[in-house]
Amino acid sequence: MFTAHGSRSASLFKRAQASLPGGNSRHSIAFPPYPIYAASGSGCEITDADGAVYIDCINNMSANIHGHRHPAVMDAAFRQQERLVSVGLPTETEIVLAEMLAERVASVDTVRFCNSGTEALMFAARAARAFTGRDLIAKIEGGYHGAYDSLDLSNKPTPDVWGDDDAPATVMEGAGITQAIANQTLVLPVNRVEATRAIIRANADRLAAVFIDPLVSRMGFLPLTDAYLRMVREETACRGILLVFDEVFSFRLGRSGAQGKFAITPDLSTFGKIIGGGFPIGALGGRHDVMEVFNHLPSGKPKVPHSGTFFANPVSMAAGAAALELLDEAMFAHLDRIGDLLRKGISEISLRLSVPGQVMGMGSLVAFMPQMEPYTDYRAFAQGAARAGGEAVKHFGGLINRGVLPVFPRGFILSTPMTEDTIGRVLEAVEATVKAARDAHVPA
Ligand code: PMP
Repeated sequence: MFTAHGSRSASLFKRAQASLPGGNSRHSIAFPPYPIYAASGSGCEITDADGAVYIDCINNMSANIHGHRHPAVMDAAFRQQERLVSVGLPTETEIVLAEMLAERVASVDTVRFCNSGTEALMFAARAARAFTGRDLIAKIEGGYHGAYDSLDLSNKPTPDVWGDDDAPATVMEGAGITQAIANQTLVLPVNRVEATRAIIRANADRLAAVFIDPLVSRMGFLPLTDAYLRMVREETACRGILLVFDEVFSFRLGRSGAQGKFAITPDLSTFGKIIGGGFPIGALGGRHDVMEVFNHLPSGKPKVPHSGTFFANPVSMAAGAAALELLDEAMFAHLDRIGDLLRKGISEISLRLSVPGQVMGMGSLVAFMPQMEPYTDYRAFAQGAARAGGEAVKHFGGLINRGVLPVFPRGFILSTPMTEDTIGRVLEAVEATVKAARDAHVPA
């Protein structure tokens, strides 16, 4: 039972605190009062250190689109490991995966690999600055682009520091980032078309790139509006500013990711998570002329050096190619179908139990925000979430104890091994949890 003091997860967490600050290596998966320690996974299920089995709706924050240990992905990884694991030479595997990305995504001519989404974003910023000769970059308020100093800003600012609605302040949430770095990142107000247009225009001479997470993962999968995306594309295109789509999370929306769904052509795109089949990976791809900043061949020296010991490691490349191979139109249709089923089911539960709220998401990404009003920007989201805050923790514990592992507090990231029956089981857990919370008359 989650939060039982005698559990093995609770004691592992206690032990972890002696050798790991805060007892973990990853704040994004640390939740109160202690994290569940995973022991094994198979298909769409996880078994924890106490032997409890859960439907995994975290799927390593989107990376495990095929759930755990998919036979075709494992086979590709094992076969690669039998040949070669890590090597100081290129391998054919990186060409195969680069070709697959370029074939799927019309805006991608060429690709560079790295080991994480964070690194892909870091190199995107560097490429944009090198290509344009400008120093500023811009991101949307509340968007998350990994741990790189220049983008790890204004991820979750609070009203006391977030500044004007039309001209958000650049907020440093963690210590250790210098003011000089923060000063080079502009923050754009989400879905506010004219205010964002004004910021882009006012800084056009110095702006190298605008970074967009088109389905904002940290805001309950809030989609940027069509008008907003089109304005950003037009304003950037005619001012020589690069548009970077961060597809690290959203690439699971379809064969060509969010950009395919939203019909926008960015100049650069960053990838990660699903393209590694569950192994560490990141990639930056895009327009040929921009990507040429990494080409060392013409002069013998690249404009932007790009190297890493494990970049394009053959195991991630082989597993990633196998994972992508499985993701054809029929597989995306399956993910869309089970995502729709879950969204519809949660909406019905919320009506039936008279617990109002928002059901958000697209495709295989689903979020339930009980007691929240509709929102279209970061500020309304943050204020609504703060008001409904106490409910989140309670729902989270309720779902876990009913065998469903959500993204804290109530996100659901689905995987291809899930069936309609799996979604039925998730919905049973959601209904029982929401009902128990409502009937207990405590914040749910
Ligand atoms: N961009 C987005 C939109 C993300 O969701 C994430 C990770 N959750 C990242 C970048 C960073 O990727 P990574 O964790 O692989 O560094």
